[in-house]
Amino acid sequence: MTARFVRVALPVPMRQLFDYRLPAALTVPPVGARVRVPFGQRQLVGFVCALDVMPEVAEAQLKDVEAVLDAEPLWPESLWQLLQWAAKYYHHPLGDVLSHAAPALVRQGQMPTYTTSTRYELAKAGREVTLSELGRAPQQQRLLAALQRGPMSASGVRELDIPANTIKTLIEKEWITATVLSDKPAPWTCTGARGALTLNEEQAVAVAAMKGPLESHEPQVWLLEGVTGSGKTEVYLQAMEPVLKRGEQVVVLVPEIGLTPQTVERFSERYDVPIVVLHSGLTDSERLQAWLQARDGGAAIIIGTRSAIFTPCKRIGLMILDEEHDSSFKQQDGFRYNARDLAVKRAHQDKFGLVLGSATPSLESLANVKAGRYHLLELKKRAGAAQKAHHAIIDLKQQRLHQGISDQLLTTMAKHLQAGNQVLIFLNRRGYASALLCHECGWVSECHRCQANMTLHQQDNILQCHHCGAQRRIPRQCGHCGSTQIISQGLGTEQLEEAIARQLPGYSILRIDRDSTRRKGSLEEALQAAARGEYQVLIGTQMLAKGHHFPNVTLVALLDVDGALYSSDFRAPERLAQLYLQVAGRAGRAEKPGTVVLQTHHPEHPLIQELVNNGYSHFASSALTEREQALLPPYAAMALIRAEATSRQAAETLLNAMAHVLGEHPQVAIIGPIPAPLGRRAGRYRYQLLLHADQRAPLHQWLLQQLPTLEKLPEGRKARWSLDIDPQDFA
Ligand code: ADP
Ligand code: ZN
Ligand code: ZN
Repeated sequence: MTARFVRVALPVPMRQLFDYRLPAALTVPPVGARVRVPFGQRQLVGFVCALDVMPEVAEAQLKDVEAVLDAEPLWPESLWQLLQWAAKYYHHPLGDVLSHAAPALVRQGQMPTYTTSTRYELAKAGREVTLSELGRAPQQQRLLAALQRGPMSASGVRELDIPANTIKTLIEKEWITATVLSDKPAPWTCTGARGALTLNEEQAVAVAAMKGPLESHEPQVWLLEGVTGSGKTEVYLQAMEPVLKRGEQVVVLVPEIGLTPQTVERFSERYDVPIVVLHSGLTDSERLQAWLQARDGGAAIIIGTRSAIFTPCKRIGLMILDEEHDSSFKQQDGFRYNARDLAVKRAHQDKFGLVLGSATPSLESLANVKAGRYHLLELKKRAGAAQKAHHAIIDLKQQRLHQGISDQLLTTMAKHLQAGNQVLIFLNRRGYASALLCHECGWVSECHRCQANMTLHQQDNILQCHHCGAQRRIPRQCGHCGSTQIISQGLGTEQLEEAIARQLPGYSILRIDRDSTRRKGSLEEALQAAARGEYQVLIGTQMLAKGHHFPNVTLVALLDVDGALYSSDFRAPERLAQLYLQVAGRAGRAEKPGTVVLQTHHPEHPLIQELVNNGYSHFASSALTEREQALLPPYAAMALIRAEATSRQAAETLLNAMAHVLGEHPQVAIIGPIPAPLGRRAGRYRYQLLLHADQRAPLHQWLLQQLPTLEKLPEGRKARWSLDIDPQDFA
């Protein structure tokens, strides 16, 4: 018998596949199975991409496959096709794409098998407990409340951030029981929903529009544009009902891990079906179990962040991608995919309906609506009793400032606080101040390794660089002239907290940012405390802007967003508009009307006027027109080559060499090399080369043709480089 050869994708940074001989003693693997192979001095786990190939190198040089790990392909055929497509579209090594898509343990070569787990349920005594009597044991109260809605898995309980000793206490009190189970996928049925609301007209229209196409598995994409509080989640919940009743799975993607517990809670309240979550907070083995449950059909609802787009599903009937405009759906390093764009591709490939939801849709998605590729469903009114918020501008030029807060804002805050309401202040800069400055000579606390200032963190008593993480003690004297006249510059959340405590004494303040929520579970606790109204003033960064409900907030203020008005990034206006409306959406969600206040030095700026007076849709349509006229995405395609090296010259030389190889193309413009906006990070100089084309196809063809040459450039040995297709971030 003649020898057989297999072509394998390996997790290495080379855009090529590798051939191996398959020893006769091994069973022949199917395409999509894993094999263990020698590679240099190492052993790697790879994925079989083709069988019985004609080897590309001389047979004598081929090494043997050491082991075949799977008898079946790891992924269903349609997902395998999607991964192949993604590797091509993003021009990324297939082996790395496949490794990225597989759970860590699978990637490392472990057998994907089920393990046992624990299931928690209420015992008889637990059912008789009155929750309100547990006021002093809030963790016990939360766990019991969750279990009253149905049994939960260990990972579901962990999702709620319940401490282990709370579980132990409740078991000892015999209020709950813990049963050890095998995790083999069990069949489930969905008989109906609990506590569905009566839809308003717009919601009913949206749910009805989805029904038919979902039933017939048309690969439709709906853009559900609904102002904050308009009841998008209720639309998702009701659109899923017939899907679940047919025994089909629903995948829900959310932008950040912090939103998964609240999503799990709302979905499990409504439907008594198995739910799994997939995000970076899980242990490797929990992640594998959730992946298997999805793949084999044991999970009815799969909730996850960006990478959950690669979860195999036995019978997927609907995918929901919430906050579709959010930039976290784009991976910013390594395999730089966009989960939203892959979701659209997957919907077509797997034949299911996809709902993209947002109060502030991306211009890309709105352009797709205009082009007839997506169907627009609108929710213009807030659901329930909530009213529209009032918007106002404070012109900082006329104001006396108290550490960055204007008199007028303080007066407004006091009014809302005295009425017993909550106030939310948004400032997207953590730490105390953005830099230290010498009052005598102008010296600034720069990072030694980045082209950036170090942030003052008063509480930790350090200077910290937010780009590379470097830390230094706070100098007492100027590093340049020795003066002791050192002042801080640029307001951060720590200082804001201090300033508000001084100006409005007697009100309790909660600050939510990356520093105040470092401990696992603390973000969740803080958000819940905020929602319960335990604090009167909430201060926060971006973390507070997304999807959280604070029913008693009546005033929202945004400080210091002026930087975005004059940014060189063409997406800055879109991002500011989204941020503004997302933050504004936190005001007046319940019966109380809300007020949104923006402090700015540029009240006359057209973007500010547009947002405050006309709202998002109006902004978006004029922004789209501008993009079209300027030939910018979504009316053009871009690819960004980034290079970085310890010497400025090495990075620039590599990109010059690349630009030279690329030469000229009638349909693709090459811009650069130019230094990146953050010209140096962690000791490395950074340069960029931008490829810009009216049409996507010629750009991609050209890259496909040129990449093999670009990869082999000798200048590439002295600099690291990467390719970003449809770049979102130019920093
Ligand atoms: P969104 O996701 O659009 O921000 P939610 O789905 O969270 O909005 O709904 C906001 C609030 O309105 C929630 O408290 C929800 O229970 C309520 N709500 C949604 N739909 C209805 C409805 N049809 N009738 C009454 N209340 C509703
Ligand atoms: Zn000085
Ligand atoms: Zn740094």
